[in-house]
Amino acid sequence: MRISVIGCGYLGAVHAASMAHLGHEVVGIDVDERKIALLSSGQAPFFEPGLPDVLASSIASGRLRFTTDFAAAADADVHFVAVGTPQVADGDAADMRYVDAAFSTLLKHAKPGDVLVGKSTVPVGTAARLAEQVESTVPGATLAWNPEFLREGFAVKDTIAPDRLVYGVPAGEAGERAARILDEVYASAVATGTPVIVTDYATAELVKVSANAFLATKISFINAMAEIAEATGADVTQLADAIGHDARIGRRFLNAGVGFGGGCLPKDIRAFSARARELGKGEALAFLTEVDKINLRRRERVVELVREEVGDLEGARVAMLGLAFKPHSDDIRDSPALDVAMRLAEARAVVTATDPEALESAAGKAPQLTYAASAEEAVRDADVVVLLTEWPQFTGLDPAAIGELVARRSIIDGRNCLDPAAWRDAGWTYRGLGR
Ligand code: NAD
Repeated sequence: MRISVIGCGYLGAVHAASMAHLGHEVVGIDVDERKIALLSSGQAPFFEPGLPDVLASSIASGRLRFTTDFAAAADADVHFVAVGTPQVADGDAADMRYVDAAFSTLLKHAKPGDVLVGKSTVPVGTAARLAEQVESTVPGATLAWNPEFLREGFAVKDTIAPDRLVYGVPAGEAGERAARILDEVYASAVATGTPVIVTDYATAELVKVSANAFLATKISFINAMAEIAEATGADVTQLADAIGHDARIGRRFLNAGVGFGGGCLPKDIRAFSARARELGKGEALAFLTEVDKINLRRRERVVELVREEVGDLEGARVAMLGLAFKPHSDDIRDSPALDVAMRLAEARAVVTATDPEALESAAGKAPQLTYAASAEEAVRDADVVVLLTEWPQFTGLDPAAIGELVARRSIIDGRNCLDPAAWRDAGWTYRGLGR
């Protein structure tokens, strides 16, 4: 199929490269010239395992190209819109400027019979509004909403072999045709039995935000238990193991720690709450405000633990292991690790931070921190070591060897990912969250 992908960020670049890998003819379009130049030369503008390989092979095959020229979309019959929907600066809602601009420009180049497919995460009601614009501007074109569930760090795999496909389409023949075309786009996944849910626009939009609301709630639930564990001397990791054996609860996403971040969960739960309030149903999602608060309190808890360890934060030497919001990604959007590092620096601690992939993006956002190329370099002469992103490079550290480099053997395990006994045996003071 001939496909255009509008917006080539974390979602769009992976989608474009993966669709070409599956055999489609793809053009990726973005307003960011730097990004397009990098992608055109086969380089990923961000760290994502596997992306450089699919980019290189798809460009070499001639099936994938990138441009800033929207007119290139005219050659495609299916157009995916994957632009950003960040939080507005002055509230909780999603900023819809990029989606609206992308559709307005795309519609200048679309033709009757084309299927325009929204992939961005949007407030419920957006697709119905855009469908009117599509129908009135290009009669005979159809809008579908096909939310994306990829996980950064596994984005290529999740795009090529998703765990489910959701198509929001209009009722009637146009919607049935759009669903058939999406089945062709995803033919390889459909052939292997991937569940396909064909539904209306509102349900498709809600599937995405409710999935993220559920995941955020699960993390904040266990972090609330961590708060109670801290007050009672219980161990939240054992508690999670024990309740996780109940298949109705499940152990995944039940790791207490410094909480969730990134370009999706935090802004998605806030936008979902904002949309519920607009609909007069704010009460239904009032719990998400608590979910957000629990999550942010964990960051302050880490700052408190550092203070307890060093006494006075001013001048204390803190080694920060991790900056990305999660391992296997360089994404620092709303990263708990970077936020804690900035809070400590604000309190005049001397923070030296490291991360296998996020140094460059963090240095751009937080120039007040000192950066080191490795854990060994970061921990040199540190009064306390704080682990906030569970990269294998950090979870595999040898406490005895690292202990030779620090000023004091004190570690705060903000992801509960280290073996407390091993660190204590090597002479460290070990502090986890909720244990
Ligand atoms: P991003 O910021 O990495 O990428 C957005 C891209 O859109 C940027 O490259 C930007 O230059 C481009 N853009 C903005 N306006 C444009 C326009 N008018 N025309 C063309 N390009 C334009 O964001 P992202 O993480 O890729 O997220 C995109 C959407 O996908 C968001 O709605 C997000 O919530 C959703 N999503 C993201 C993920 C993820 O893991 N990153 C997963 C699922 C869903």
